Amino acid sequence: MRITVIGTGYVGLVSGVCFAELGNRVICVDKMEAKIDQLNRGEVPIYEPGLQPLISANREAGRLSFTTDLRASVEASELVIIAVGTPSLPNGQANLSYIEQAAAEIGQAMNGYKIIVTKSTVPVGTNERIRDMIRQHTEEVFDIASVPEFLREGTAVSDTLNPDRVVIGTDSARAAECLVELHSRLTDHLIVTDIRSAEMIKYASNAFLATKISFINEIANICEKVGADVTKVAYGMGFDKRIGSSFLKAGIGYGGSCFPKDTQALIQIAGQMDYDFKLLKSVVDVNREQRYNVIRKLEGLLGNLAGTTIGIWGLAFKPETDDVRDAPAFEIIAELHKRGAQVQAYDPVAADNFRKEYGSDGIVYCSTAREAAWQADALCILTEWKEFQELEPLEVEGWLKSPYLIDGRNIYEEEQLSGTNIVYYSVGRPGMN
Ligand code: NAD
Repeated sequence: MRITVIGTGYVGLVSGVCFAELGNRVICVDKMEAKIDQLNRGEVPIYEPGLQPLISANREAGRLSFTTDLRASVEASELVIIAVGTPSLPNGQANLSYIEQAAAEIGQAMNGYKIIVTKSTVPVGTNERIRDMIRQHTEEVFDIASVPEFLREGTAVSDTLNPDRVVIGTDSARAAECLVELHSRLTDHLIVTDIRSAEMIKYASNAFLATKISFINEIANICEKVGADVTKVAYGMGFDKRIGSSFLKAGIGYGGSCFPKDTQALIQIAGQMDYDFKLLKSVVDVNREQRYNVIRKLEGLLGNLAGTTIGIWGLAFKPETDDVRDAPAFEIIAELHKRGAQVQAYDPVAADNFRKEYGSDGIVYCSTAREAAWQADALCILTEWKEFQELEPLEVEGWLKSPYLIDGRNIYEEEQLSGTNIVYYSVGRPGMN
């Protein structure tokens, strides 16, 4: 199949590369020239494990190319996938301007029957709007489909090649047949449904996962008060098949480019229909509040934070990615600065992205974990990078001025800390606080 993917971000680039890997001829389009130049030089603009070798192999095989020329690529393709960003507007609604621009440009490039697929996460009704927008520019016959994306950054390649399910929302039998064929090698769980339900499946899935995280974080907060250990509680809960063990890891809350914006967007979608989504609003509040536990614990140990130096390990919203969008580190570091603390921070891959967003005022960006911990009044772990888990707490203690460790991700076990003088605060494990 000849496929154009519009938007070469975390979703578009990985999807395009994986469709090429399946034997399709894929053109990845982006309007950012610098990104396309980088890709054409063989460089990968994002950190995503396993992506680089697949890009090289498929370019060499002549199945994958990169361009800024949307018109030429759409003209050459029978399937066009929209994978542009849908970030939050200040009021929480999804910003659909990139989608609208892509739809208009597709409409202008139509030269025969095509299927237009939206992978971006979009509010219910958006695919129908996309159809109307394309229709304004062309008389050609085309079909639309919503095929929402569920990949996770950090494991995006394997998630794309082995998805739990693929949701295909369309009102066209022709499009359904083509998309089933395209995805049938990836999974047996192909869910063909109507467009609006497909759009809603994506929001409902993310909202549910966010709910699980806020739920276990509240249980963790109660565990700290009643003397239970949330990791044991989650382990015990997880064996119940109705509950499942995933997304029951207590910490400093979710971040990233999806959960925060998609929960807000769903609250807005409901609100526009006069429905008050109370549960999801609480999920969002709990998540915001959870980040402040790090500050509260630091103040409990150090009192006034003015003039202190705080080491930060981890700036990415989760390990194995350089994505810092809505990472808890932003709010936590901003709160530290408000209180007059200095920050020395280290992340294995996300520091450059963080610096671009946050700047350098009050932060020293360090090139090793040791440097970030060095002579700090306390150390906070905000991302559970394996690199941090592999460091010996006894050695870390020697780097710090005071042996205070606030672990927002529960990366250490009790036995690892025995024999140290570290004063250790984790999340929901009062035996270790
Ligand atoms: P991203 O910001 O990393 O990438 C979007 C890309 O689209 C950018 O490179 C941008 O330059 C390009 N773009 C925007 N308008 C364009 C246009 N008119 N023509 C060509 N290129 C254009 O975004 P992302 O993280 O890949 O997310 C894309 C969508 O997928 C969003 O709706 C997101 O919610 C959804 N999603 C993301 C993830 C994830 O983990 N990142 C997972 C599932 C779904």
